[in-house]
Amino acid sequence: MNAIMPTYGRIDIAFERGEGPWLYDDKGNRYLDALSGLGVIALGHANEAVAQTLAAQSQQLLHTSNLYRIPHQEKLAEKLASLSGMDNMFFGNSGAEANECAIKIARLYGHKKGIEQPCIIVADAAFHGRTMATLTATGNRKVQAGFEPLVGGFVRVPYNDLASIEQIAEQMQNVVAVLIEPIQGEAGIQIPDEEYLIGIRNICNAQGWLMIIDEVQSGNCRTGAYFCYQHSGITPDLVATAKGLGNGVPIGVCLASGAAAEVFGPGNHGSTFGGNPLSCAVALTVLEEFERLDIQQHVTTIGEYMLEKFSDRLGHLNLVRDIRGKGLMIGIELEHPCTELVQKALEKGLLINVTADSVIRLLPPLIINQDEAEQICDIVCDLIETL
Ligand SMILES: *Cc1c(COP(=O)(O)O)cnc(C)c1O
Repeated sequence: MNAIMPTYGRIDIAFERGEGPWLYDDKGNRYLDALSGLGVIALGHANEAVAQTLAAQSQQLLHTSNLYRIPHQEKLAEKLASLSGMDNMFFGNSGAEANECAIKIARLYGHKKGIEQPCIIVADAAFHGRTMATLTATGNRKVQAGFEPLVGGFVRVPYNDLASIEQIAEQMQNVVAVLIEPIQGEAGIQIPDEEYLIGIRNICNAQGWLMIIDEVQSGNCRTGAYFCYQHSGITPDLVATAKGLGNGVPIGVCLASGAAAEVFGPGNHGSTFGGNPLSCAVALTVLEEFERLDIQQHVTTIGEYMLEKFSDRLGHLNLVRDIRGKGLMIGIELEHPCTELVQKALEKGLLINVTADSVIRLLPPLIINQDEAEQICDIVCDLIETL
């Protein structure tokens, strides 16, 4: 560990192998994974179809660069376009890169309209990544402190507050976009009012702004729709996604529609690894598996089951401030900080996460069955009840 920069406070446990929602450490202990490597392992660990694609593609072709056509990338783009209603896309390797791409498109869109100092509206407590632009867009001082000077061109509003966006529309002439999570993940599974995204869409239409949705965590069937914005029946101008798309193989995508899809030309953006044959072949397999398993329906059903179970067992406790979720993106907010629950859950063979100090965050693999969902609920409820 000494040769690794201490950017993470790591739990002293090393996993050796996984199977579906289960992980096994190097001492042979078994754990139920209710976090999926931060929402990444959508199809569970060691998924057979993904493993086969990885093996076959690695024996055929890993990488050629974007100087040539990449048929797997073209096919994946077609597929994602039809799933999302977006027109075209750029492939990178992570969520932060997908957001960077969206930010660059919004700025260039502004410059093309004659706005020399384009500005993007972002939300309190947002999380968009750790690169300089995305950490600036992030609404958490802990992420930013010490890395000043931050990037210019962002203005912040409270989340779930349309009036503050309207107010900026009246006051500022150089806004080009709104960048927003449809559900704030790192902030503690914050779910806005139903009309929030529709309201932002309307303001963006009226102002000629681009609506950028960060679906890095909420996308790829996590909430029961392919993308979370689809619950609201809107089409954004730009969408960033990553985590669940590659089931552990790094891939990030920035999707665009309408005018935003026509901003970039040759030389405006690039990535050496982005959209290579390996990551695209795997993502195509992930999408096929989603379809084969009717995963959106499954996630909706299991998610509702878990929320109901949590409400039944925890709803009456004074200690529990709120239970909320959409699909398998679930948060249980307590009245006080509860980071110690991560270790306590581990001792009971369950991996969970606590975010924003007092919110238990569950992002289990999308393929968990009802019995596994019940086990997660039982352990989490037992732990909360003993507090
Ligand atoms: C995780 C996350 C990111 C950053 O993704 P990386 O792949 O770590 O760069 C951006 N936005 C949201 C909403 C996220 O949850």
